[in-house]
Amino acid sequence: MVVVMQEGAGEEQIQRVINKLMDMGFDIHRSTGARHTVLGAVGAKIGFDTRDIELLEGVAEVLRISAPYKLASRQFRPEGSVIKIGKDVAVGGTEVVVMAGPCSVENAEQIEAIAEHVSKHGAKVLRGGAFKPRTSPYSFQGLGPKALEMMRHAADKHGLLVVSEVMDQTQIPLMLEYVDVLQVGARNMQNYNLLKELGKVPKPILLKRGISATLEELLLSAEYIMSGGNYNVILCERGIRTFESYTRNTLDVSAIPVIQKLSHLPILADPSHGTGRRDKVGPMARAAVAAGADGLLVEVHNDPENALSDGAQSLYPEQFEDLMKQLHMIAPAVGRTI
Ligand code: PEP
Ligand code: MN
Repeated sequence: MVVVMQEGAGEEQIQRVINKLMDMGFDIHRSTGARHTVLGAVGAKIGFDTRDIELLEGVAEVLRISAPYKLASRQFRPEGSVIKIGKDVAVGGTEVVVMAGPCSVENAEQIEAIAEHVSKHGAKVLRGGAFKPRTSPYSFQGLGPKALEMMRHAADKHGLLVVSEVMDQTQIPLMLEYVDVLQVGARNMQNYNLLKELGKVPKPILLKRGISATLEELLLSAEYIMSGGNYNVILCERGIRTFESYTRNTLDVSAIPVIQKLSHLPILADPSHGTGRRDKVGPMARAAVAAGADGLLVEVHNDPENALSDGAQSLYPEQFEDLMKQLHMIAPAVGRTI
């Protein structure tokens, strides 16, 4: 951390800042310039609040240099993390892992038809909501435990793994019986009690970026899970709220290389929630893989016009097939397989 003193700050003020920093356990490196005195403070504690120094008399500016997260930072594991799902799937290695399926599980025939199709065309994980965090309380809320059972059955039949959203900690034991990856939705990215409980879970967590979350906040949420002992966290960029209203959200493709610099955790992209329109899902999925995403989370439906949720952003089965063909060309161009 660097503390820049105001021009003309008195020696007494400077000493008070130095003493406070030393009390907090920092080593101080002082540089007395013609106009400004600058203090380099080394050895910050992880939960340190820069405002405690900013508010001291004579301080102009406090600049934090080290990240407030530790376990999620790239320095913790410079070679990157490869997260195993089930026995044969690994996220964060050379393979781009595609997770596909409906927004919600609606009935046994629907999930079975979609599982068969996405498996045939290269998806490794079946997605589908059983507990749905809907913006309106009057919208379809998901079939709950029955959906988990149907999804597990369809996935096993077609050699797929299962990812589904957990909305609160009371659902964890049930989810663990049926799913291979527990998804934390955008709305729950900062549900700290849920994140703490997921720190104790023996399965990977797919953590989606909050609707208005910075990447630092996303990594701090990952830190909650990791500090509980579960290092198997997969991040997901799913679009953020911006001033643009044409698309449902703005998929922040730049989050992919930024996360890869800041963190060792794998990062997926969700172009379905990221755009909200099926005609824009393919282009953004291609862009995400080209940008280095470790995988995709894509909504696919056998009858999107009659879907109970997110039909407009769900690909037709043929569109998914075309997309996979395109990704087979893009992935090798960026040193990946699919
Ligand atoms: C979902 O994946 O179905 C979902 C609800 O996503 P998000 O939490 O990103 O809105
Ligand atoms: Mn959805």
